Amino acid sequence: MAIDGPSGSGKSSTAKGVASARDLWYLDTGAMYRAMTWWMQHHGVDADDAAAVAEAAGRPDISMGTDPAAPTVHVDGRDVAREIRTQQVTAGVSAVSAVPAVRERLVAMQRETIALARSRAAGIVVEGRDITTVVAPDAQVKIYLTASAEARAHRRSGELSGSDIDAVQADLARRDLLDSSRADSPLTQTADALELETTGLGLDEVVAILLELTDR
Ligand code: C5P
Repeated sequence: MAIDGPSGSGKSSTAKGVASARDLWYLDTGAMYRAMTWWMQHHGVDADDAAAVAEAAGRPDISMGTDPAAPTVHVDGRDVAREIRTQQVTAGVSAVSAVPAVRERLVAMQRETIALARSRAAGIVVEGRDITTVVAPDAQVKIYLTASAEARAHRRSGELSGSDIDAVQADLARRDLLDSSRADSPLTQTADALELETTGLGLDEVVAILLELTDR
């Protein structure tokens, strides 16, 4: 299953819920772009210097755990699951993810993980921005999750304790713009992805809808 959508649309919680319920693998591709960004910042590479980012894109050793109950992110053997969620990484990730060399490498890794799941006869839920369009356009079920800007900001501020809603909403709007304004934007819907508007729906309801789709 491929799930795309903007920040705060509920992709991660939904994808993990579906994968846990059906005993599937789970891959958070946003976490991979965040891990790449963390490495750049940790090694003093300016996230806004596209040439420097491109040159370094092959260096970090990124490894993703695919258990939906405990997804892990390691960079060069270090557990960075918490560090990739900091404001600093969030501020740099759109610029790093716009660099073609970064996308080429991470998309190839994502396809390898999907191939590995298939070779073990396991299903996999992959979530991100370009999964239905670029990474896995052949996925059996393709979903595009949306929610109103207010609902998305509320969800995100619930995840980031103590943050103010207006600031979160402004940051989401900034990232949406950066993520969707570049020429090769992955944040474009495919004609055949099913769009699900989740404003007003609880997580359990969204998961239940997707489970019904997978069972068809
Ligand atoms: O999903 P999350 O908000 O953690 O993603 C962080 C960032 O990674 C996004 O704002 C986007 O810039 C980038 N991203 C991407 N392609 C993906 C997943 C995430 O460019 N498939």
